[in-house]
Amino acid sequence: MTDQELPNGFTGFSRRKPEGFVSAHDAMGGRSPLTDGPGAFGARPRTAASAAPSAYEAASAAFGDGAEAAFQYARDHARPDEGGPAQFDPDKLRLIPALDRRWAWTEVDLNAVRHNVTAVKQRLSAGVRLMAVVKADAYGHGAVRVAKTALNSGADYLGVATVDEAIELREALVNAPILVLSQPPQAAIPLLLAYKVMPSVYTPDFAIQYAETADAYGMRAPYHLAVNTGMNRIGVRHDEVVEFMGQVSFHRALDLVGTFTHFATADSTETLDFQIQVKRFIEAVSALNVAGIDPGIVHAANTAAAVRFPDVHFDMVRLGVGLYGLHPSPVTRPMIDLRPVMSVHARITDVRTVPMSEGVSYGMNYRSPGSVKICTVPVGYADGLRRGLSGRTDVILRGQRCRQVGNICMDQCMFEVDMRTYANRQKLDPQIGDEVLLVGREGNSIVTIDDMANTLGTINYEVAIGFGHRMPRLYV
Ligand SMILES: *Cc1c(COP(=O)(O)O)cnc(C)c1O
Repeated sequence: MTDQELPNGFTGFSRRKPEGFVSAHDAMGGRSPLTDGPGAFGARPRTAASAAPSAYEAASAAFGDGAEAAFQYARDHARPDEGGPAQFDPDKLRLIPALDRRWAWTEVDLNAVRHNVTAVKQRLSAGVRLMAVVKADAYGHGAVRVAKTALNSGADYLGVATVDEAIELREALVNAPILVLSQPPQAAIPLLLAYKVMPSVYTPDFAIQYAETADAYGMRAPYHLAVNTGMNRIGVRHDEVVEFMGQVSFHRALDLVGTFTHFATADSTETLDFQIQVKRFIEAVSALNVAGIDPGIVHAANTAAAVRFPDVHFDMVRLGVGLYGLHPSPVTRPMIDLRPVMSVHARITDVRTVPMSEGVSYGMNYRSPGSVKICTVPVGYADGLRRGLSGRTDVILRGQRCRQVGNICMDQCMFEVDMRTYANRQKLDPQIGDEVLLVGREGNSIVTIDDMANTLGTINYEVAIGFGHRMPRLYV
């Protein structure tokens, strides 16, 4: 065999070539038999090619752009029917579920989203709106599905961090008002207007450019004014809002539809800094009113403030972390019943008995006591299972907690199953294919995103977002 005949290492097929077989490459003089015509292969490849657009579209929708390349590969390497070996049908390949391609996934409980929206809404006075904050792909939970569920459950507004996050929602046919919670670059202004996405505004340059572009298209330029009351991240200084409005409000297209600030310490037991921000914000809004400027929808509260301080609900609250069933701090935990939305699942991909004192994983920091089975699951730090959790988190197998052991690798990690018998414990018999939980509850065993955040010395927000990047997501 020469390298040219076997370019990709799949040597087994060469023995099974039917009589008179001509390779696709040779038959087409190097062209693709499917994209450039039937060539030597008769009707079948053409059929596959004619079905191609729908398969590509569906595959891309389900799995992203990578799928398109993969199926084009399968199509380009299709082999003839008659007398030959079995064919790969790209449309069938597409149907192999994401959860069978890799045994790791997150589950997103949309009923829990609904519960959390309802629980917060119940605390709002009539007429107070609720913004569902779905930035960062809904904190790793999937922005489109979460946004639609939140809106169906009574949310009125959506908050995102970037223009592209807003566009994703619009392209998924979400029609609610969307506020970008920062001021985008001026070059993005046509996108805001074309997709009807409101910016947060705090510089006169941006405001005027936004207004002039809107005017040129015969549109209004709605925006929310960001007020800096002490967090010192974005916004017009609390005591300069009237001056700011004086600089921009001459422009006829500009529409101030909301005025907001953001709290730096709403989750903290110490409330002095919070009270200062509240006072400054109320003064800024009054100053606008006194100057004859309607501040529009006044909003300030994130989850922590919405749960703890009804006085700062104003006209709208912005529900972020609470939407996902996570508490912004221990302070809110006894105050409201929230249901966690995300759980993290995997199936065991390998099981072995490791002799006593042999190491497991990179560095071999962990040594087998000999009385355990070591199980592998295909979840690693590239999936959000942070390496800092190595040896410091548990995996739930059949309702029992098992210690994760050895360093967490990029794409896999190991856990131990104690094979000794105890009086009142059901002995486990782990098998390849068994499902485990890395985050979630089964029976009396529970591992939470908060547990992981505490162990890591970070916040639950960051851990949740980490699990949103590579694992397929199952909505339940
Ligand atoms: C992220 C964000 C929120 C949501 O905060 P949570 O603590 O997750 O409720 C609200 N407002 C602004 C401006 C934000 O950036």
